[in-house]
Amino acid sequence: LRRNPGEIEFHQAVREVLESIGPVLGKHPEYAESKIIERICEPERQIIFRVPWEDDQGEVQINRGFRVEFNSALGPYKGGLRFHPSVYLGIVKFLGFEQIFKNGLTGLPIGGGKGGSDFDPKGRSEREVMRFCQSFMTELYRHIGEYTDVPAGDIGVGQREVGFLFGQYKRITNRYESGVITGKGLSYGGAQVRTEATGYGCTFFVEEMLKARGTSFDGKRVVVSGAGNVAIYTIEKVAQLGGVVVACSDSSGYVLDEGGIDVALLKQVKQVERGRLDSYAKRRGGEAVFVPGRSVWEVSCEVAMPSATQNEITGRDAETLVRGGCVAVGEGANMPTTPEGVRVFQEAGVAFGPGKAANAGGVATSALEMQQNASRDSWSFEYSEQRLRDIMTDIHTRCLATADEYGMPGDYVAGANIDGFRRVADAMLALGLV
Ligand code: NDP
Repeated sequence: LRRNPGEIEFHQAVREVLESIGPVLGKHPEYAESKIIERICEPERQIIFRVPWEDDQGEVQINRGFRVEFNSALGPYKGGLRFHPSVYLGIVKFLGFEQIFKNGLTGLPIGGGKGGSDFDPKGRSEREVMRFCQSFMTELYRHIGEYTDVPAGDIGVGQREVGFLFGQYKRITNRYESGVITGKGLSYGGAQVRTEATGYGCTFFVEEMLKARGTSFDGKRVVVSGAGNVAIYTIEKVAQLGGVVVACSDSSGYVLDEGGIDVALLKQVKQVERGRLDSYAKRRGGEAVFVPGRSVWEVSCEVAMPSATQNEITGRDAETLVRGGCVAVGEGANMPTTPEGVRVFQEAGVAFGPGKAANAGGVATSALEMQQNASRDSWSFEYSEQRLRDIMTDIHTRCLATADEYGMPGDYVAGANIDGFRRVADAMLALGLV
């Protein structure tokens, strides 16, 4: 705490991991002897930089850029960029720290990192977003590379921003190094299913949790928070598997649509028009209503899939969900449930899939994008989706097996933290004191 004052989210993320891995440290004294915990909590490198740019009125704007290169024991640093006014070092470090274990859990050769800026893309013209991305990359380019650090998207950074960032990287370096960033469009090195991967992957993970309890999505009432990349493709896949998503949200409120969210209309409003959810409700008509300024977690459901942002499900929200009949939670977002919320779910026997495991499909498919870029190949949608499904099933199996091994059957939080930690810690031991 004294070393990293004020970084509340980072402290929360570290505490959660440390609480789970006590039994591993007991079994493996070599981890403590070589100070793995102290080393793993200290980023290998942190970069903070100025991002100057000019808005449409000709006024100069200054934002702050971040890249935290947390751990490269398993491979090049890998993790997204977030553009949101709430971004500061504590958020980037929490995301980077989570990313280390998540990436370990995928079994793929990727280390952990994260970055972003306090830039707010909301209300900015496309030209302003482009100028910002170009200025951001003008500093970032010297720190990244296909063998060093490979960023991707996150909140506020979708395919459009990735395109602008890659364009500037290519221009500065004179290298068509498509493996330097993932989440690219299909016409310039992107991979099938990357856009859908986090939402689809989270849905596959929840499907496995339901299967382990002898049930399925079929006919289940589902609530998804957010209306961005992760939320949209979660809603799409849940509907394909027979579930009914009755509500989703954005920062202005939520929409309740008892007939099931119309994904095509949602994509039109959010991805094409970049509009707000009240516009969805107006155009959908029928039973759809927009509820401004309230939390979507007041809507009862059997499956909850938080896909917006950190700490969005409080202890009280979790109690409301449990009372409303919630039996499973899949975290599409990173750390969307507060520690009190997690406790409520676990004590109530809810199947709780933590983000590190449930949303790992996004970064896993990014690693597949790197693989296709490296071999100048591109795979079909069907093959890529099957790879994603296999990866999610494997993560689910390993979480359960590890939780069993440590005497905590059904505890996906412990299973994910322990399995991810062991992989990274073993690699760090093997690489020596570096
Ligand atoms: P997007 O920017 O596409 O969408 C984010 C959505 O969440 C928007 O609907 C946004 O509403 C809402 N939201 C964001 N911040 C807040 C807030 N403070 N309060 C209320 N609503 C908010 O981001 P993604 O879908 O890519 O990311 C969502 C989550 O998933 C994040 O936690 C991210 O870290 C995580 N994630 C993303 C991955 C990916 O592949 N994209 C991979 C793994 C995890 P509004 O537009 O009104 O701000």
